[in-house]
Amino acid sequence: MVKSYQKQWVGVFGDPVDDNPTVVMEQAAFDHAGIPMEYLTIQVKKGGLKAAMEGMRAMNFTGINITMPHKGEVLQYLDEISENARTMGAVNTVYWKDGKLAGENTDGKGFLKSLQDADVELKGKHAFILGAGGAARAIAVEMAGAGVSVIRIANRNEANGQALVKIINEKTSAEAVFVPWSGSISVPGDTDILVNATPVGFTDESRPDINYDSLREGMEVCDVIPNKAWTPFLQEAKERGLHTFNGLQMLINQGAVAYELWTGKPAPVEVMRRAMEEEYGVKLP
Ligand code: NDP
Repeated sequence: MVKSYQKQWVGVFGDPVDDNPTVVMEQAAFDHAGIPMEYLTIQVKKGGLKAAMEGMRAMNFTGINITMPHKGEVLQYLDEISENARTMGAVNTVYWKDGKLAGENTDGKGFLKSLQDADVELKGKHAFILGAGGAARAIAVEMAGAGVSVIRIANRNEANGQALVKIINEKTSAEAVFVPWSGSISVPGDTDILVNATPVGFTDESRPDINYDSLREGMEVCDVIPNKAWTPFLQEAKERGLHTFNGLQMLINQGAVAYELWTGKPAPVEVMRRAMEEEYGVKLP
């Protein structure tokens, strides 16, 4: 047999990327599966994405993750974009599909998988999302696609909140409503799924400014914060006896979807999970 020295390249383009932990779980998964794939963490500054995308085509990369600030701009350099990613206006995973460079957004899919793995029913349910940025948009579009019927969006900046409400109302079958967020707001009593999609809790021990006494029995409480198993927001929900979902598992699940798009094989999610637990020194529930 002829020996091959050639590697398959995948990775991430973004700025900043030096603290992006995706390499840890993806590389662990490739190594576990014996796939000769290398995940590169590559700084691509604003203004450099067009050249970087031409470069990854020229060098025949197997795929690439796209992160800040390029998730919107990358759409124009792709041959094909999934319907949901187009609705969100954001792509975070690029892969080859029948010879065409295709774009997908795996963030919301990773979020949904956590709920589906726990057999949480989504059809006809009511969601309350804190925040209206990229993560909120990905989650709202995927939840609408999975049958969530009412999505309330609470945001400080009304224009940003209304922009997401418009996307949901015009492009999905769910009904979206804007909730102004100033001061400690209450979670509507008919909420089934509550999501913190703001960065509150990422860099410190703060939690979103809501009235925690308005949390009701039976609510599923979810956080997007990707670097902790337990944020103060989730801790509070747990102490009230509620079922919780963290952003670290969401991150692992979305990475698993990317792995499957690149390799065509099921992702070794347990291996990815262990790699991230070790990286962050946490034990996932
Ligand atoms: P964006 O900057 O696009 O949006 C941030 C949102 O949070 C905005 O709606 C903003 O409101 C709101 N916000 C920011 N600070 C506060 C605050 N102090 N109080 C209330 N609202 C606030 O960020 P992203 O959506 O891209 O990221 C949000 C979080 O999601 C990050 O922590 C990111 O790491 C995480 N994430 C996790 C993923 C995972 O796999 N776990 C995947 C993707 C993201 P306003 O419009 O008023 O400014």
